[in-house]
Amino acid sequence: MKCPFCMGENIKVIDSRPSEENNAIRRRRQCEDCNKRFTTYETIESAPLIVIKKDETREPYSREKILSGVLKSTNKRPVGMKEIELMLSDIENILHNSMEKEIPSSYIGELVMDKIKDLDEVAYVRFASIYREFRDINSFMDELKIILKEK
Ligand SMILES: [Zn+2]
Repeated sequence: MKCPFCMGENIKVIDSRPSEENNAIRRRRQCEDCNKRFTTYETIESAPLIVIKKDETREPYSREKILSGVLKSTNKRPVGMKEIELMLSDIENILHNSMEKEIPSSYIGELVMDKIKDLDEVAYVRFASIYREFRDINSFMDELKIILKEK
């Protein structure tokens, strides 16, 4: 994507939300070169996504399933429902934009981990410990150290 003003390519998303009228994601973007802002709309594809599970079986993508995993991780944490919904919409947008019809569940887990990190550190560690299945306590501690260092 290029900035419509200066053709720069360093664009960041400052806000994204579903646009009800046209089944699209509305993104507010800012160019990091000239600082001008603009809006883009990305259509949400209606084709269903298929998730490939660890045992190679397939099932339709379910937002509810991801949501319940996220809610378990954010239990009693200062994370609002609105932030979670926005995160899920972001993830779904990435999935649809990947143009893959079948998506490994592990990839979705990685996406959630990547996003949940920005919401809440405790939720991230909880989520990661379930989905990445830390092989041992050391890899878990390594992950924790990275988070603490980033703070
Ligand atoms: Zn620009």
